[in-house]
Amino acid sequence: GKCLQVLRRQLLIVCLVLALVLGASVGAALRSLDPPLSSRQIIYLRFPGDLLMNMLSFLIVPLIASSLVSGLASLDTQSSGKIGLRAVVYYLMTTLAAVVLGIILCVSIQPGTRGGEPEVTPEDDVTVVNTADTFLDLIRQCFPDNIVEMCFRKTVTEQVLRPNGTNVSMTTVQNDTGGETVPSVYDPVPVKTDGVNVLGLVVFSILLGVVTGHLGDRGRPILIAAQAVCDATMCLVQLVIWYSPVGILCLIAAKLVEIEDLARTFQQLSFYFLTVTAGLLVHAGATLPLIYLAVVRKNPYRYLLGVLEPLVTALATSSSSATMPVTMRCLEVNNHVDPRVVKFVIPVGATVNMDGTALYEAVAAIFIGQMRGFHMDIGRIVTISITATAAAIGAAGVPQAGLVTMVIVLSAVGFPVDDVALILAVDWLLDRIRTAVNVLGDAFGAGIVHHLSKAELRILDQQNIALPEDD
Ligand code: ASP
Repeated sequence: GKCLQVLRRQLLIVCLVLALVLGASVGAALRSLDPPLSSRQIIYLRFPGDLLMNMLSFLIVPLIASSLVSGLASLDTQSSGKIGLRAVVYYLMTTLAAVVLGIILCVSIQPGTRGGEPEVTPEDDVTVVNTADTFLDLIRQCFPDNIVEMCFRKTVTEQVLRPNGTNVSMTTVQNDTGGETVPSVYDPVPVKTDGVNVLGLVVFSILLGVVTGHLGDRGRPILIAAQAVCDATMCLVQLVIWYSPVGILCLIAAKLVEIEDLARTFQQLSFYFLTVTAGLLVHAGATLPLIYLAVVRKNPYRYLLGVLEPLVTALATSSSSATMPVTMRCLEVNNHVDPRVVKFVIPVGATVNMDGTALYEAVAAIFIGQMRGFHMDIGRIVTISITATAAAIGAAGVPQAGLVTMVIVLSAVGFPVDDVALILAVDWLLDRIRTAVNVLGDAFGAGIVHHLSKAELRILDQQNIALPEDD
């Protein structure tokens, strides 16, 4: 049995790596076709990938609700408080560490001053966004008015990147030879975040889980039902995981075909791109593993290997929410993290803990400041660190959500909000990498919180408050 399980996992990893490589090569090959693929053909190519996105998305509502309720209801109030506090401290510390790393890299590499003379945006084109309103909106989201509607409605965040004339000045910023036509990848596209109000769902489920635990025997039916829904959903997750290589291959191939001017994009934003990527790699490859090593004293890279599937899924889907089911399953099955910890740390973490996004927000804001020649004093740097953290917490776990919440950071330091258009060209790729880092941050968090909470978990096991183990 054990041997078979190991074999299966190897097979899955081989399939995933093949999917990445094949997806990239198929994409590259199709790009070079002479009459290029029509947009309809690209839609067909991506279709199996869309199915994967949908399958992962339909799992998240039942999974978030059932895992938070069953996880929290099977803890007593005191231990859930302690575990929750540890998780929150971890989220905040790692997010801040990521922001600081981003700031240090961006200030020392100075990517914004390496692209030729910037041209200033016409002032009247600046979108005015009120920072306080954005924060209030975030809190409002935590307390949705209708719990049922919240899970079904497509909430569409209004686009913040208005298509306007700024892309004209943008080309001159990007390109010191001047006079080139504007490539269409620079057109500010409407950024939509649609799906369920995950933040509201998380808050409601936490509250429900805590009171259910409090009710003791009277709450038991809810606990048992939630546990059953959670177990059943996890079985579905496993099926979807086996389908995922196909979907991942198609998502990546289609994206590569769709992106118009690959080489040029990287030339123009290369220093910015390299700064963000370097920061993300250092955070994922050094900061997080070191924290894990310091706390848990086990090999962090082994732990990292256990969550390879969610990392690849994050690269392909660029959505932490969609990746969440895969993360939960791998942590429990491969890394043997206690299900009660996973059920709390991952749904919450996938929604609020985004190290990669925080790092990216800080670098992007400073990069824009450098390009525009704004002075970077200590006040601005502090403001950027605080708002980048808030923007990462507020970003939903869907593709390019970070680009939308960038507005919070830019408006707080008084940079033109429309300047997000400057970094749009490489965002499709940075989004994938930062999403993988977001997912990795949650995964390490689960391991660390599990380690720190062993004492409480053991006492609970003795008191037999938890349901009998599922395996
Ligand atoms: N796509 C990211 C995520 O799902 C959020 C972002 O845009 O930074 O984690």
